[in-house]
Amino acid sequence: MKNKACFLDRDGVLNVEVDYLHETEKLVIENGVIEALKILQQHNFKLLVVTNQAGVAKGLYSIDDVEKIHAEMAKIFAEAGVKIDKFYYCPHHPDYTGKCNCRKPQPGMILQGAKEFDIDLKSSCMIGDRITDIQAGIAAGCGQNILLLSGYGKNTVKENDCTQIPIAENLLDAVKKYIVKS
Ligand SMILES: [Mg+2]
Ligand SMILES: [Zn+2]
Repeated sequence: MKNKACFLDRDGVLNVEVDYLHETEKLVIENGVIEALKILQQHNFKLLVVTNQAGVAKGLYSIDDVEKIHAEMAKIFAEAGVKIDKFYYCPHHPDYTGKCNCRKPQPGMILQGAKEFDIDLKSSCMIGDRITDIQAGIAAGCGQNILLLSGYGKNTVKENDCTQIPIAENLLDAVKKYIVKS
């Protein structure tokens, strides 16, 4: 049987949104995230982070900085008994490095994760705080695509027609409301 996954945007979902986060001192985990990830893990979801990191293309920070943030995040989660199965990131930006197929709303990172972890996308979900997260999830064929009001989410709702999109306050709310209903 194929696996299922929860594809997670990073900034504004797992950590408190900070513009171009690249210093580990500024990494703050969002409320309820550890509990949410534990629930997902207990329900056999692979945890795959998919994050646009155009700051690399713009020369604001390096790939090494991105990986340091991910290592720090993995360490914080590991101490709480949570394992992120893999962090995927897109270091590109069309204006600086040309088009790519990984930058959300493209589904490249999700499709890559699905391939590497033998994921059935229909039974998987994508969770993010921007419309591009939702578009990427839909393009990839994820069964559920949930918008969070944490991070950039409140602006996303103001700037887009989100009437057809399931919305939750934050990751824990999304998990309880839409994914692991009790
Ligand atoms: Mg985000
Ligand atoms: Zn890319």
